Amino acid sequence: MLSPSDCIFCRIVAGSAPASVVYRDDDVFAFMDIRPFNVGHVLVVPVHHAAYLADLDLDVGGKLFRIAQQIADATRRSGIRCEGINLFLADGAIAGQEVFHTHLHVIPRFDGDEFDLLDALASFVKVSRDQLDDTAANIRSAIGSGHSHPL
Ligand code: AMP
Ligand code: ZN
Repeated sequence: MLSPSDCIFCRIVAGSAPASVVYRDDDVFAFMDIRPFNVGHVLVVPVHHAAYLADLDLDVGGKLFRIAQQIADATRRSGIRCEGINLFLADGAIAGQEVFHTHLHVIPRFDGDEFDLLDALASFVKVSRDQLDDTAANIRSAIGSGHSHPL
């Protein structure tokens, strides 16, 4: 069993590792992926460590999806290039899971983007921390304004 200090996402939730935060409450935390498939790629994670889906409280799992749904809606209205959304979750190494603190990817899509589901785990666009912070701020402010799914 990992201790929180061994798990990068536990350290992010605790504030001891850097993150560009999009959303937080007592159960769910969302932040920008550091190697985004496209600009605006967000990770939604449970606050309390759960390595796999099977370790995740069902109500928290439901909440994870609800927050992802609302972030997807906010992303579409944020000014980020987004003509569609992929939600993606890798449960287990064979499924492509690399960080063993379960997480739901919210990935903006647009015509002609570089995101190929088969090559997805190897591809990312180069971004600076300033760009990650700006993108997080865009989505944060869209969450708070004129949304069709209130948070
Ligand atoms: P998965 O392959 O589904 O386990 O995805 C793990 C994701 O976590 C990858 O997209 C990584 O880019 C992302 N990631 C790993 N470390 C960090 C970090 N410190 N901050 C933000 N995203 C991270
Ligand atoms: Zn963890």
